[in-house]
Order: sequence, then structure tokens, then C-alpha cells
Amino acid sequence: MIKGSCCCNAIQFELTEVPSMLGTCHCSRCRKLGASALVFVKSDSFKITKGRDQIATFKAVEPYKYDRCFCSNCGTALGEVLSEEASFPLSANCLDDELPIENKFHEFVSEKPSWLKIGDDAKQFSEHPFES
Ligand SMILES: [Zn+2]
Ligand SMILES: [Zn+2]
Repeated sequence: MIKGSCCCNAIQFELTEVPSMLGTCHCSRCRKLGASALVFVKSDSFKITKGRDQIATFKAVEPYKYDRCFCSNCGTALGEVLSEEASFPLSANCLDDELPIENKFHEFVSEKPSWLKIGDDAKQFSEHPFES
């Protein structure tokens, strides 16, 4: 069981399965939202155990398709925890427990600010890794 929470602890959640992948997005949107390291979780292995009613949503505007969720009290970026998709990105920063996986890729490196230096050997993609 992997647990996670927001900074003020109002929102808590659990994962019953290790996420399939961890990736880091350097696009300006993720950077400003404060959720760049994302794990991809299956909805049926994810459960909000506390504070669902405290979650605020920043609605996606085209071309973005994922709504971004936050704690309405402390502002912690949670990822897309209210998604109804079979799997969705969750902000790795919210996890309280260690993960047995490492960062697998960096995407949108073209939008990365020069002051941020990548410190691992994971593959780098100028934009999205799964589309050309
Ligand atoms: Zn909070
Ligand atoms: Zn991004």
C-alpha cells in the first residue's frame, strides 16, 4: 500500500498497486502548476480516503485534456485525481511512501528553464514522447 496526501493533510489517498511509470514533464503548464514528476496510476488501484470535498479543479482548456486538481486549503497540486479515465497522472510529490520505480523519461525538455538541470540518465524528449 502506497499512501499520499496534500501538504495540510486534509486530502489523503491510497494506492494498492505500484504505478506503472514515473515521468517528468518540463512543460510550462506542469511547472506553473507545481506538478512535474507524475506517476501513472490505474483508477481501480487508487482511492481517496479523506477530503474528497476539499479538492478544487482547474479545468483543462483545449488542447489540454486533463483537469488539474488541488487541495483547496493548502494548494498542493495533486494531478488528475478526479479523472474518470482508466488511468491518470498523479503528482509524485504527494506520495508519502517511497516508490520502487525510478524516473523513466523527461518530456517537453524544450520548455525547460535553463536554471533547472536534469540530474538523472532517463531518456529526454523535446516534446511529448508518445506522439511524433
Ligand atoms: Zn491540503
Ligand atoms: Zn506538462
